[in-house]
Amino acid sequence: MVAARFGCVAGRAMLVADSLTGYVDVEKFSGGKLPSDPMLCIERWSEIRDLAKSLASTNAAGLATLDFNQLDCPVPRPRQIFAIGVNYKAHAAEMNHGLPKEPLVFTKFPSSLNRPHGQIKLVGEKCDYEAELVAIIAKGGRNISVADAWSHVAGLCVGQDFSDRALQYTNTPPQFSLGKSRAGFTAIGPFITDAATLTTRNNLEMTCRVSGEVMQHTQTDDMIFEIPDIIAYLSSICELFPGDVIYTGTPSGVGAGRTPQRFLCQGDIVETTIQDLGTLRNTCI
Ligand code: ZN
Repeated sequence: MVAARFGCVAGRAMLVADSLTGYVDVEKFSGGKLPSDPMLCIERWSEIRDLAKSLASTNAAGLATLDFNQLDCPVPRPRQIFAIGVNYKAHAAEMNHGLPKEPLVFTKFPSSLNRPHGQIKLVGEKCDYEAELVAIIAKGGRNISVADAWSHVAGLCVGQDFSDRALQYTNTPPQFSLGKSRAGFTAIGPFITDAATLTTRNNLEMTCRVSGEVMQHTQTDDMIFEIPDIIAYLSSICELFPGDVIYTGTPSGVGAGRTPQRFLCQGDIVETTIQDLGTLRNTCI
């Protein structure tokens, strides 16, 4: 069975056909049963998953043509965006960090959200890329157990945690949240792929290319803290809400960790791909 893919076009919730060439509008396809607002749909994720099953029998004539350049962020107004630093062993080594005892958490502010194929406005000389697996919460709560954690997840996305290293490392100790929250620095998408029906969710191949050159390549089972661990830890401190976004950390190969360092330049195209989830394509300006 193919996992449901949920996205957003012109501010409206949509479901993508298996062919990845067409989509349906959620409100219209559900006969008005489900809303057009993506955030409200994520709260009703089990109904979205059921609606996606009926999409398989829709013929091509009933589909609108999918243009990836028109995709909006599939989670346009999350209440919280959490991000985990130093969550791959090789990345910890390249950044000269020790291994964390608990997830090392910072935030990316929602005003930095970008479209899956959006442009990145570079600031200064040290803007960097970070490919990440992103989880979207469907059912919130506090004190969620590791065993229950996946049942709180709507699905998974590809994420780019663009980072202004100059801002991040202005002081000692560094601060993360502002350096990762410039306009457009939070790219998510292209869709939310239903986690419950994604058999590969525990070990996905992730690749980041900058202007065609592979800069990061990993399997996500190399994470120090896995998605259920992160959800259990976060919810032991903060209440989680439907639509919350969790960036789960980047593997080795970021520009700041290379010799020589390789920061983003105007005209660079950053392509972030995760197996079964799709590709983000962001152009640096
Ligand atoms: Zn990151």
